[in-house]
Amino acid sequence: TMEIEELQQPWKTDFYWELPKVELHAHLNGSISSNTMKKLIAKKPDLKIHNQMTMIDQGKKRTLEECFQMFQTIHQLTSSPEDILMVTKDVIKEFADDGVKYLELRSTPRRENATGMTKKIYVESILEGIKQSKQENLDIDVRYLMAIDRRGGPSVAKETVKLAEEFFHSTEGIVLGLDLSGDPTKIAPKAKKEASASPKAEAKAKALKAKFYVPEIPNQNKETQILLDLLPDRIGHGTFLNSCDLVDFVRQHQIPLELCLTSNIKSQTVPSYVQHHFGFWYSIGHPSVICTDDKGVFATHLSQEYQLAAETFNLTQSQVWDLSYKSINYIFASDNTRSELRKKWNYLKPKVLHF
Ligand SMILES: [Zn+2]
Repeated sequence: TMEIEELQQPWKTDFYWELPKVELHAHLNGSISSNTMKKLIAKKPDLKIHNQMTMIDQGKKRTLEECFQMFQTIHQLTSSPEDILMVTKDVIKEFADDGVKYLELRSTPRRENATGMTKKIYVESILEGIKQSKQENLDIDVRYLMAIDRRGGPSVAKETVKLAEEFFHSTEGIVLGLDLSGDPTKIAPKAKKEASASPKAEAKAKALKAKFYVPEIPNQNKETQILLDLLPDRIGHGTFLNSCDLVDFVRQHQIPLELCLTSNIKSQTVPSYVQHHFGFWYSIGHPSVICTDDKGVFATHLSQEYQLAAETFNLTQSQVWDLSYKSINYIFASDNTRSELRKKWNYLKPKVLHF
């Protein structure tokens, strides 16, 4: 009922919800809400999956390994083109409801032999979801970043780059680039060398304005530096930029960071909110963007992440506003889109800040 809805969504009444926001790090499958998850579970009762297997509640934590297992469970639930279409539309609607005006959604094209879904059909289903959302006149501009799962090695990387190129030219800017993702501990040493030591595929990816992840595990400074040498346009997480050399490199090149507080706490890559590296990067004025990563899995919302950052690091409303406004600088879409968004922010400013 409405009453329960409101109880579960306290952030909807405040400044953080009204604040126009940009979301630059959101994985489609990890962003599925518990409402949508219920619909998916009802469609596939044979799998015997329940909600706790796809979401980490407040105050709970999981290891990185357990998080990746959760994604395997979610993938079982999103195995047909119809599932992907529904999930895409629901996720976009939820981000729009949360005050997100521009969203870069990322997802790895996935083949499912059981349903006959090819990687191409997977991508087409996402694009159809984006198109249908646009027709519903939601106040949100949605783009798609095609992700390469690093576990697949160079042949999969090459295949995905080819797919990206195909859609890059035919979707009028909806497919914006590539993202290098996946569990870095699962890459075979040989595949790892080939997948990350700048092969042709990655050079091409770069030409498509690729985005690269920094590995989410510690003590891999050498690999991290190899990835950074490709000069990524943005960096996801930045959790293990733990040596002075790496920090200096990122500062020197002013590479924007996508910072996901709750994700890092719940997957235990950062011990607590107070110790989150957002504090450091924000204090030196480095380009930083607050993101959710997986709002479904980590049971959060972008407005909630802004609130957590503000309350943990004592930001004023005006500082929070600037943080959101500056995020527009780091989107992958064109300058034209950037100025449209700035116009929107400036129009909303007196309403949100109540000056
Ligand atoms: Zn992520």
